[in-house]
Amino acid sequence: MSDWQNNSRHALKSADQCHDFFKTSGFEDNHFPIKIPLEFANLIDKNNPNDPLLTQVISVKNTQQQTGFSLSPLEDEQHAPVAGLIHKYPNRVLLITSRVCAIHCQYCFRQNFDYAGHDAISNWLLINDYIRSNTQINEVILSGGDPLSLSDEKLQSLIHKIESIAHIKTLRIHSRSAVVTPSRMTKKLVHMLESTSLNVVMVLHSNHANELSDEFANIIQKLSKITLLNQSVLLKGVNDSAKVLTALSIRLFDLGILPYYLHMLDKVSGAEHFLVSDERAIELHQQLQKKLSGYLVPKLVRDENAESKTWM
Ligand code: SF4
Repeated sequence: MSDWQNNSRHALKSADQCHDFFKTSGFEDNHFPIKIPLEFANLIDKNNPNDPLLTQVISVKNTQQQTGFSLSPLEDEQHAPVAGLIHKYPNRVLLITSRVCAIHCQYCFRQNFDYAGHDAISNWLLINDYIRSNTQINEVILSGGDPLSLSDEKLQSLIHKIESIAHIKTLRIHSRSAVVTPSRMTKKLVHMLESTSLNVVMVLHSNHANELSDEFANIIQKLSKITLLNQSVLLKGVNDSAKVLTALSIRLFDLGILPYYLHMLDKVSGAEHFLVSDERAIELHQQLQKKLSGYLVPKLVRDENAESKTWM
């Protein structure tokens, strides 16, 4: 078993474990189970009950039910012509490659997703036929869950299959694992990603500069052939300040990563306490434009009725 797989096994997975580790009593075992890798837990200030990393993973009883929140806010399943493949935009498809994540973010819009019915690995034959017969598709996005939760062997096999489709030029990987469990970025994985004939884009998911550890920095700065972008979710109590978002953009750029998207919260039930109002989001974005060079200001976006809408 690799170090990262071993680390994954030892993640905090219950309220009792979290109470012991953080010496606090705020955790609840809810329908979306707790999962906090130790590499991430060790970045949390145990003396700060409002630590921005802790806030993202602490599961709380939902006492603030608000209208507009639902179990599956984006209804991704309605855009799956083949199980495991989501096709919303002409030139690209997204594959649900894994139901597993290194961490359970309590604001996650896919926390109720029907992963069992949408598994791209087991449904590859039909997915292969679909992509080959739609020649306008030139980009395949690996998502999940987290595609880096797959073993190297499964990932390599999938990449080889995608490479063999002549009209696919770009492989995009959406991953939070690389940030929260840098041990996942093994030499073997890096070699695999850097040696494919496809253009590789990694869209990392980081919400706060405190998540970007020195260990992560050491690994990510060694990547030379991969385009690195970051997406964040705008979260109340985590990053809803111009100071925090500015620090994140600057830290990302220092590591060779461009801030790409700042997502409005997808309104999944249980995440009501993370919601930032539209007015506040626009105000923050305007403040970022004043403080940062244009290329360091992420696009403010919201997914509405399965369409990504860029505000600014
Ligand atoms: S890593 Fe991504 S998919 Fe997994 S729980 Fe967090 S936001 Fe959701």
